[in-house]
Amino acid sequence: MDNKAQVLIVGGGPAGISAGITLARSGIDVIILERGSYCGSKNMFGGAIYTQPTKEIFPDFEANAPIERKTVKHNYMLLTEKESTVISHFDVEANTSYSVVRGKFDRWMAEEAKKAGVVIATETVVKELIVKDKKVVGVKTELEDYYSDIVILADGVNSLLARQIGLRKRIEPKDVALGVKEVIKIGSDKINERFNLTDDTGSISEIIGYPMSEMLGLGYIYTNKDSIVVGFGIALDELVKRKLKPYELLDKLKEHPSISTLIKDGEVTEYSAHLIPEGGFKKLPKLYGNGVLVVGDAAMLVDNIHWEGTNLAMMSGKFAAETAIYAINNNNFSADCLKLYNEKLNNSFIIKDLKSYKNLMPVMHKREKSFTGYYIKKVNAFFKMFTSVDSVPKRTKFRQFIKSIFTDRNIFVLLQDGLAVLKLLFGAIK
Ligand SMILES: Cc1cc2nc3c(=O)[nH]c(=O)nc-3n(C[C@H](O)[C@H](O)[C@H](O)COP(=O)(O)OP(=O)(O)OC[C@H]3O[C@@H](n4cnc5c(N)ncnc54)[C@H](O)[C@@H]3O)c2cc1C
Repeated sequence: MDNKAQVLIVGGGPAGISAGITLARSGIDVIILERGSYCGSKNMFGGAIYTQPTKEIFPDFEANAPIERKTVKHNYMLLTEKESTVISHFDVEANTSYSVVRGKFDRWMAEEAKKAGVVIATETVVKELIVKDKKVVGVKTELEDYYSDIVILADGVNSLLARQIGLRKRIEPKDVALGVKEVIKIGSDKINERFNLTDDTGSISEIIGYPMSEMLGLGYIYTNKDSIVVGFGIALDELVKRKLKPYELLDKLKEHPSISTLIKDGEVTEYSAHLIPEGGFKKLPKLYGNGVLVVGDAAMLVDNIHWEGTNLAMMSGKFAAETAIYAINNNNFSADCLKLYNEKLNNSFIIKDLKSYKNLMPVMHKREKSFTGYYIKKVNAFFKMFTSVDSVPKRTKFRQFIKSIFTDRNIFVLLQDGLAVLKLLFGAIK
């Protein structure tokens, strides 16, 4: 393989492959350098990929890609230690997302990219960027150097390379979550029965509260064809501050009476963990420089409230590729030319959405006790009261419940919570 290409891409995840295939389809020669033995071998997520953005890059993916189940049901489970209140949205015609196994799906995307002309060098770890006259001109791997007009950094959440050239700072524990999950094999019949699904339809459950009550963390359950994914994401500083062990939290989650019945008699076939960038809009790094663009998780592009990451990765990869094509056509690889990438991001849903939620993480860091603790308990307490039959007049029970809201919690804290919700709402629609 020639060690020169018009564009080099570091990382063969959704961001890197989407950038690569977009470039190759325009006749640009492009090499993806991936450290894993194949694309996807190092990657894990919850998770679900999103139909519309995936179709933009891979129009026929629904017919050809290794997908597990089409999501038709979203459950929101509010858990205390012994109780749960579940809100479920079911839409048999929904076509928003599919559960996939990243090891299989990323590998399939990589094969599609190869068919389009992308060269993929696996088992190739990029050690550092080669910078000449303040411009990135290539990369050093363990074995050899590669050169190009533009380097796209798609190397994921840690992106040591973006840090090397000062585009990013070291990520702080409060701006990153640890995602942990187990894959539990129980067979498709039991999944269909327990989740009320058919063979190719699936569900996503978001778990708020126990065992992460009063913490900045959420649990999840995804359904694959014949396995269930149970896991959670928690802010790294919570784990450190509270000296928590991730596998103990996962065990508690699995032992909850509402969850244990779903996974009963299953066999754990995989345990994995990965970081998720959670800094949001206020922590976005610089996304371009002379001869370089940063995409996907390396650029911290994750919308954590909607659990969107792969779609931001794919679309940022596409925008970076379009920018590289423009730069190649104009033979101009300066930061001034590559800032077009920033403009594309700004004009898209990516930055608009991250901006809408710019207050989310600062607010949640201050009010986690309320939103994942107190109110979850109160919702469950309400339904316990509402469904109890004990010859106490309903009016007495309602009064007691309303009174308890103000006796259990200081009025000023309630007001602060209310203001925080308003701040989030106004931030989202402004
Ligand atoms: C627990 C968890 C659950 C999630 N759930 C969802 C979900 O349900 N839906 C969703 O859309 N998103 C989800 N996400 C987020 C999503 O996985 C990421 O946003 C997405 O994978 C980012 O894609 P990427 O290509 O930028 O990075 P990655 O997928 O991390 O790919 C980076 C690639 O770069 C390679 N690499 C790194 N360094 C080097 C190097 N020096 N040299 C060569 N190669 C290198 C890696 O091996 C890897 O293949 C979840 C994440 C986690 C951790």
